[in-house]
Amino acid sequence: MSAVLGTYARINVEFERGEGAWLETAAGERYLDFGSGVAVNALGHAHPHLIAALTEQAHKVWHTSNLYRVPGQERLAERLCALTFADKVFFTNSGAEAMECSIKMARKYHSYNGQPERWRVITFVDAFHGRTLATIAAGNQEKHLKGFGPKVDGFDQVPVGDLDALRAAITHETAALLIEPIQGESGVRPVGWPFLRALREIADEHGLLLILDEVQTGVGRTGKLFAHEWAGIEPDIMGIAKGIGGGFPVGACLATEKAASGMTAGSHGSTFGGNPLAMAVANAVLDIATKPEFLGNVQEMSLLFKQRLAEIIDRHPRIIADIRGEGLLLGLKCKVPSADVSSTLFAEKLLTVSAGDNVVRLLPPLIVTEAEIKDACEKIESACARLDATLSA
Ligand SMILES: *Cc1c(COP(=O)(O)O)cnc(C)c1O
Repeated sequence: MSAVLGTYARINVEFERGEGAWLETAAGERYLDFGSGVAVNALGHAHPHLIAALTEQAHKVWHTSNLYRVPGQERLAERLCALTFADKVFFTNSGAEAMECSIKMARKYHSYNGQPERWRVITFVDAFHGRTLATIAAGNQEKHLKGFGPKVDGFDQVPVGDLDALRAAITHETAALLIEPIQGESGVRPVGWPFLRALREIADEHGLLLILDEVQTGVGRTGKLFAHEWAGIEPDIMGIAKGIGGGFPVGACLATEKAASGMTAGSHGSTFGGNPLAMAVANAVLDIATKPEFLGNVQEMSLLFKQRLAEIIDRHPRIIADIRGEGLLLGLKCKVPSADVSSTLFAEKLLTVSAGDNVVRLLPPLIVTEAEIKDACEKIESACARLDATLSA
C-alpha cells in the first residue's frame, strides 16, 4: 500500500493544518490534539512566533555546517546554560542522538581523566532512551532489541527505587547513572523525587556522572522548565529534544564544564546538528517558554485537568484506575485495554498517545486553555460512558 517502511502501525487519518491545540483534516474534521506529536508541539500548531522565526531565518541561510560559527547555536547554548546547571551544549537532531552524546560524553570524561576502565552506565528497568544501537541497549527492552544482533555492551540495569540493587551494581567500571525523571514511554511512571536525590548522592559518593534523560519531561512539560527542578537536584549531563523544537527536529546534550571536559575538537559531531533553521525555532520556543506566565499555565491547567479526571474516574471506576504524572505529562492507567480507550477517544476526536503498562498518555500543548481542558474532559467522559456501556451489555 504505502512505500513508507512499516515500522509504525499508523492510524488511518491525515492532517492538513493545525492551530493551537487543534488539528484539522482535509475534509475539515477537527481533532483536539492532546498528543502534541508525542510531547513535541509544546506551543501547539502554527504558533505565530515560531512561524515568524522560521520564515525569517529561511530567507537568510538554512545550513552552513559546523565548520563555521552558527550565531543561533551560540545564543541558544548561552540561554540554556543561563537557565540550567549546564556550561556547555551540543546540538543534535533528535532525542536518541542527544542521549547517544550523553553516553559518549560520560565514557569520555572518565577516559580523559585517567580512568578509561570506567565506561559502563547503570540504567533502570522500563527505561526508554531512543532507538539507536546504544540507546536500545540502555533501555534494555526485549521488544526493541529483538533481532538486531548482540546488544551493545556497557549497560547494567536495576529496578527503579531499589537503592540496594543500585549500590550492588556499581563497580570500578561504572561511569554514570542514566534515568528519566518520569518514565514516559513505559507508562508515565514517576521515579520519585526522593529517588532522584538519592541517585545524586550515590553518584557523588562514587565519582559517577548523573545523566538525566529529559527528552520528554523537559522544556516545561512537567510545570518546571526541567523536571529535575522538582527534586531540587542538578545532573552532570542532560539530554533534551521533543519540546525544545516545538515541532522542528532538534535536540541537545547539556553538561557541566567538568563532565564535558573530554569532548575536545573532533571527538564528536553532527552535520545537521544545530542548523540555523533549528536554532531559530528553538530560540523562539525559549522566548515563550521563559515568559513568567508560561509555566504557571502548565501548573494551573495540570491541576484543573487532574481534578476533572479524578471526577471522571469516580464515575467510571471500571474504565480508569488512576492518573499519574506531573504537569501536562499525564497518564491514565486503564482497567480495560488502553488501546480500546485511545481508539474510543480518537472516535471522540481527541488525540492521545499510548504508553506501556496499559496507560493512555495525555500530552496537551503547554499553551492549552481552560476551555480546551474542559472540552477534552467532555470527550473523555463520553468515551468512558461508551466503554462502560459495552461492559454492561
Ligand atoms: C522520545 C524519547 C527519546 C528518543 O527521542 P527521538 O527523538 O525519538 O530519538 C529518548 N528518551 C526519551 C525519554 C524519550 O521520550
